[in-house]
Amino acid sequence: MDNNQLYDMVIIGGGPAGATAAIYAARAGLKSVILEQMNIGGEIVATDRLDNYPGFPKGIAGAEFGMLLQQQMESLNVPVEISQVESVSFQEGVKEIVTSAGVFQGKTLLVATGTEPNLLGVEGETELLGRGVSYCATCDAAFFRGKTIGVVGGGDAALEETVFLSRFVEKAYLIHRRDQFRGCSWLQDKALELPNVEVLWNTTVSRIEGDKKVSALHVNQGGRERRLEAEGIFIYAGRKPKTGFLKGVQLEQDERGFIITNAKMETSLEGVYAAGDIRKKYLRQVITAASDGAIAATAAAQYIFA
Ligand SMILES: Cc1cc2nc3c(=O)[nH]c(=O)nc-3n(C[C@H](O)[C@H](O)[C@H](O)COP(=O)(O)OP(=O)(O)OC[C@H]3O[C@@H](n4cnc5c(N)ncnc54)[C@H](O)[C@@H]3O)c2cc1C
Repeated sequence: MDNNQLYDMVIIGGGPAGATAAIYAARAGLKSVILEQMNIGGEIVATDRLDNYPGFPKGIAGAEFGMLLQQQMESLNVPVEISQVESVSFQEGVKEIVTSAGVFQGKTLLVATGTEPNLLGVEGETELLGRGVSYCATCDAAFFRGKTIGVVGGGDAALEETVFLSRFVEKAYLIHRRDQFRGCSWLQDKALELPNVEVLWNTTVSRIEGDKKVSALHVNQGGRERRLEAEGIFIYAGRKPKTGFLKGVQLEQDERGFIITNAKMETSLEGVYAAGDIRKKYLRQVITAASDGAIAATAAAQYIFA
């Protein structure tokens, strides 16, 4: 790979947003490169199944989806550099991206680095991820039909997802560390009236038990230790955007660090775009990430060829 060349578009992140941007960039005749720290496909690769995506009526294994995206990159001759982006800077219109594999330069830059969940930081959480531990009810609720689960959190996301999950599960413990919810009142009312949801106030999870999959949750309820039989736990302790490498860059972000764009995925900096979960947006799914990527690359092509 030629590190010295000036790419039309440097794409940080090879998830659905970045990979789709690369497809549209290739079609538009842009010379692009994807800088990806793990593998093509993004966070969906680590999940059992990608659901809610048109064309796959039975869903598709996350790993298989990632492999197909990787093949698509190869068939379009999109270079993929496996490297972690450490910092970016801008000099007279040129975007300079410092990575673990050297420095890359672009006329435009697309940030598509996604998010990561805030972890509870308890034993069993990372070990049992995808085997009963989940951060996405939209994606995984169907696997818990007729089962007992825990949902952790007290904000809108936790309440909304509890309502959604209640249609699938036999019973849900809604585990909240305070004595009142933070989420909006109509969601609170809705969650509290569900017959199969038991709210555990002033309660924190201390351990997730399981060998190959989750079998129980250990909680501390107002100082009292309890063991709850459960086959799953959905954690809504918030998500954070992966923007560490943007330190020092004056890019407009919301109060949680999500990047603000317009409808063309343009950020507050000229020639810098953002796509996918990293953006401030309403719905974070593969389909919306891909849509953002397509729009960003099309807008970048228009900018370059103007
Ligand atoms: C458990 C789970 C299940 C899900 N199931 C579904 C589902 O069934 N259907 C659905 O539509 N959505 C699902 N989602 C949501 C979906 O995965 C995301 O909406 C989608 O992946 C967002 O795509 P993205 O490209 O914006 O970000 P990501 O997929 O997060 O990709 C970002 C990429 O950027 C890379 N990256 C980050 N920082 C750097 C750096 N500094 N340098 C280099 N590379 C970097 C990462 O390694 C990653 O590959 C699920 C999410 C989770 C957590």
